[in-house]
Amino acid sequence: MIGVFGGTFDPIHNGHLRTALDVQEALGIRRVHFVPLREAVHRDQPGTSAELRCALVQAAVAGQPGFVMDSRELHRSGPSWSVHTLASFRLEHPDEPLAFIMGGDAFNGFLEWHRPHEILELAHLVVMQRPDATPPGDALGDLLDRHLTREAADLHAAPSGRIFLQPVTQLDISASDIRERLAVGRSARFIVPDRVFTIIDHLGLYQAD
Ligand code: ATP
Repeated sequence: MIGVFGGTFDPIHNGHLRTALDVQEALGIRRVHFVPLREAVHRDQPGTSAELRCALVQAAVAGQPGFVMDSRELHRSGPSWSVHTLASFRLEHPDEPLAFIMGGDAFNGFLEWHRPHEILELAHLVVMQRPDATPPGDALGDLLDRHLTREAADLHAAPSGRIFLQPVTQLDISASDIRERLAVGRSARFIVPDRVFTIIDHLGLYQAD
């Protein structure tokens, strides 16, 4: 099974990394692709270039077995629709299960995404519980009724179409909190990997002018 973890990663932090490792270990995922988006579709555009966010992701995953930085969204113009990203993974892996990994906050808005039902035809969804997450609303309840499985084995038995809720280490870390800390002169140390910290520090990223 291949894991696809998309995000703004502005910047990538230990909340992304530790939880992705939890998912990888729990579900037997052989490779997790971290896919920084180029152009946001459901939120404000990131203030940091896609190239720089990729460099931070690359620094974060270096040396971690089975974690890779995947820059495919950088090479596509227009909005970074997940359905297109997953279609390109499907072309590369015609029969292998794909696990599209996201936090519960992202899943809560899933039905407003571009072509959500096609996403489920292309991949499974693995939803990670985040601290203080609100439970899914009624519309998602219908989707869960149809697609939810509590058996990890079901994810290996089909290439796509199931939703699995994965408990993960609860780390109350968000990129927006990190940006706010840095903007007021505080440090991101120990909430991002050391290599990411060093780049942020060297370049003075996210700091107020
Ligand atoms: P921001 O604060 O700027 O919104 P973020 O920290 O939520 O950023 P994103 O890059 O937007 O990071 O998130 C990518 C994915 O990672 C999303 O699916 C999000 O739910 C998930 N995620 C982010 N932080 C955590 C965390 N601490 N625990 C579990 N999932 C997380």
